[in-house]
Amino acid sequence: MHDFDEATRSALWARAASHVEGSFSAARALGTTLGKGELDALVAALDGEHASDPAVVLEHVARGLAGGQVQVAHPRYFGLLSAAPSSMALVVSMLAEAFDPQLATRRHAPFAVDVEERLLSSFGERFGWPRASSSGLFTGGGAEATLVATAAAIAHVHPAVRKGGLRALSGDPMVYVSAEGHPTVARAARISGLGARGVRVIPVDEQKRMRVPALRDAIGRDQSRGARPTLVVATVGTTSSGAIDPLREIADVAERAGAWLHVDAAWGGLLALVPEQRHHVDGIERAHSITFDPHKALGIPLGTGMLLTRRPEALAAAFHERAGYMPKGKALEPYARGIAWSRRPAGLPLAAVIATAGWEGIATTLRREIALGERLGAELTRAGFGLRHTTPLPVVAFTDPTREDGAGGAYLEGLARAAIADGAGWISVTRFADGSRALRACITNHRSREADVDALVTSLVKARDRSA
Ligand SMILES: *Cc1c(COP(=O)(O)O)cnc(C)c1O
Repeated sequence: MHDFDEATRSALWARAASHVEGSFSAARALGTTLGKGELDALVAALDGEHASDPAVVLEHVARGLAGGQVQVAHPRYFGLLSAAPSSMALVVSMLAEAFDPQLATRRHAPFAVDVEERLLSSFGERFGWPRASSSGLFTGGGAEATLVATAAAIAHVHPAVRKGGLRALSGDPMVYVSAEGHPTVARAARISGLGARGVRVIPVDEQKRMRVPALRDAIGRDQSRGARPTLVVATVGTTSSGAIDPLREIADVAERAGAWLHVDAAWGGLLALVPEQRHHVDGIERAHSITFDPHKALGIPLGTGMLLTRRPEALAAAFHERAGYMPKGKALEPYARGIAWSRRPAGLPLAAVIATAGWEGIATTLRREIALGERLGAELTRAGFGLRHTTPLPVVAFTDPTREDGAGGAYLEGLARAAIADGAGWISVTRFADGSRALRACITNHRSREADVDALVTSLVKARDRSA
């Protein structure tokens, strides 16, 4: 049932590799190409009614993937922070999955666990913490990292909760995040038992950065009614427009309030990896914990996030449980640090990519993506589009001031659809907290080039002229 002879396996590997190579082709359509009937047939073909030849099943899967999704690895995908997987990450993912190391405890997989520990320390160091106190864990992504950080914050600020649960909360625990912060913050607060009422949404300035005086006021009001500021979340790179909250000032406010400071740098944290961009995230080192997503920023397949912290004892306070059957280690074991128990080798593809490129090579790739973002902004401006915000990150939010309805949802959706249909670029319309809308394009692919960016602008100009 689970295995084939070697010749069959080799043939399957070869076919799979050729499908992977085909997936790199820039000539593919950007959106779904399968009609409803074909899609249904491919899905139904996998329902196991009858046993099938493995080569046939493989072709079904490959056709479904090639035609049944937005092609996030396409060099003209300027969409929602999905990075194109780098080749080294793909190859090592496959290798690692075959060995299937169990990273719950170090004793079971010392190589894979130590590789992850070093990565966590290295990233912590790059964000500005002393190497020795940098720790954390790999997560499925930013949403899980934020949930882990919320649990750590509650454990840190309300130590009695570990025993007493919500009934032991002292005061009224409050979470603060900007109106442009990610919705996973409110969700983490809600499923941690703090409820929607436990979240204060802080207004933003014209650049979509958290207004620090408003944060200070909200915290002051909460304290004067006896509530307990527990978690302040600052964002480095809001999803809609790449805004960076004023980290140092927020850190001062959080510190004075005795709250845990979490920085959501899911994508924007890439600025810390490019030396001349690092100043944009100065102050991030004052965070107790940081979300960073290698699957958004560094060309690692989905399912690779990180929660970094300089307070690993808070992870232990939130997550540690004894298990009689687990081998005992000296350090805090990976299973005792977060939500997952059994753990996949998420760090190995990332380590292989960094080892192949070198940190300097990583910076070079990110630098090129940043330069492409600048080019996109400049070309859009030249073409008469209006950039809504400035950011050092390669994301642009823009409208069309040459028309009265140039910031209207229907018009902007039309432009996005035209660019996708043209094969010129997958972009989308985003809606800000104030209700305004903008087209949003973002560079996350190491294969995108100037010609790709220029094609998008040309197509948008054409679509605008057509609808004039
Ligand atoms: C994408 C994103 C998240 C959620 O991360 P996932 O990896 O999708 O779970 C959180 N915060 C920000 C700022 C993001 O851009």
